[in-house]
Amino acid sequence: MQRVTPHVFTSTEIRGCNPSYVVTSAGVVVIDTPQLPTKAVELRDAVEQHGAIQYLINTEHHVDHIFGNYWFKGRTTIVHHQGVHERFMTVFPELDPFEYALEALPTDDPAGAELVPEREAYYAGMGTADIVFTGDVTLKVGDRTFHVLHTPGHTPGQVAVYVPEERTVFTGDTIFSECTTWLMTSDVDQWIAALERIRALDIEFVVPGHGPVQPKSYLARQRAFLLEWKTAVAVAVADGLTREETIARVNFASRYPVDIGQEYMMGYIQERNAGALYDKLTAPTSTTYPASEPPKR
Ligand SMILES: [Zn+2]
Repeated sequence: MQRVTPHVFTSTEIRGCNPSYVVTSAGVVVIDTPQLPTKAVELRDAVEQHGAIQYLINTEHHVDHIFGNYWFKGRTTIVHHQGVHERFMTVFPELDPFEYALEALPTDDPAGAELVPEREAYYAGMGTADIVFTGDVTLKVGDRTFHVLHTPGHTPGQVAVYVPEERTVFTGDTIFSECTTWLMTSDVDQWIAALERIRALDIEFVVPGHGPVQPKSYLARQRAFLLEWKTAVAVAVADGLTREETIARVNFASRYPVDIGQEYMMGYIQERNAGALYDKLTAPTSTTYPASEPPKR
């Protein structure tokens, strides 16, 4: 684990997200869990050396942030935004999260495969929420404060965890640090607003969802990249390109690598990012006017 401040720890060099924790005078708060089973168990055991785990907060519902919850369930209180709770390990036609999580097992220690139960047992014991909230919530744990801020954009239930005493914010995937951004399930406009909200905080350390810890200035880098993506697709639409032509033209693969262990997904990410933005920018507008009554200027 990397020690960001005397009380803040994170792990930025394993496959999956950056699982993190904060040590307080009354136990520990964990933010996101490792996707790989052996890493989840290792983290849990390491954290418990510092004291009981008072809360586990997940910053989003994507598998790389929640799959390891299974190995924490029953040993802590799990806190989720409603948007995380509603989507937690829900199977969609295009993605089965359990299958997707198992795809990563060959990159884990061989013991990892033995830690994962059968699907039914996993779903019966997975780390769903003990507390569900809407909006923001603040948790006081010993001598530390955890402002859990709803910062939708990357996902609808996205949260950032701000610990003012440490001048640290855990952004989850609102920040992809020096690795490529996944935006296919996102609302980019909301995401930029989320970055603005985080920018208003008194912070020195930004612990991202993926990649190395950054200073506050990195928020501008993430904003610029989102705007570049959106603008490039908007220009393609203005030029009259089809969806396929847009995907062929708009590609930022050379900008950042994919995070650890998922290098093979670069093509998929680029195509899905461009396709999702194209769909959004060409969708029929939701505002309709009766034919007899043109909109007033
Ligand atoms: Zn992630």
